Amino acid sequence: MHELSIASAIVEQAAEIARADGADGVSSVTVRVGELAGVVPDALHFAFEVARDGTALAGARLIVEQVPAVAWCGGCAEEFAVGMPPFFWCPRCDRPSQELRGGRELEITEVAPVPAPA
Ligand SMILES: [Zn+2]
Repeated sequence: MHELSIASAIVEQAAEIARADGADGVSSVTVRVGELAGVVPDALHFAFEVARDGTALAGARLIVEQVPAVAWCGGCAEEFAVGMPPFFWCPRCDRPSQELRGGRELEITEVAPVPAPA
């Protein structure tokens, strides 16, 4: 299951970011996952629960923001959703377009530290 290696990488990176910020732990991690990134959100959530064990993220929540895949048509300057499975065809001028503008993202956008003890 490749989501497990992705989840491990997310846990590792988030722990590093939290450490650099001087945080004791992480309460939540937000990731942007493109429609074409090849990641199943449910599987990622499950893998995250396994990967976070025994790390600074042990109590952390994973928030997945899905990014739709969009392509760009240079011919008529139209941006269109390619859908799933992806179909690279401009709906406006009826021509093929391979210029992907988004949808392959797989990145951490936020690491929220646990609140400091009062
Ligand atoms: Zn077009």
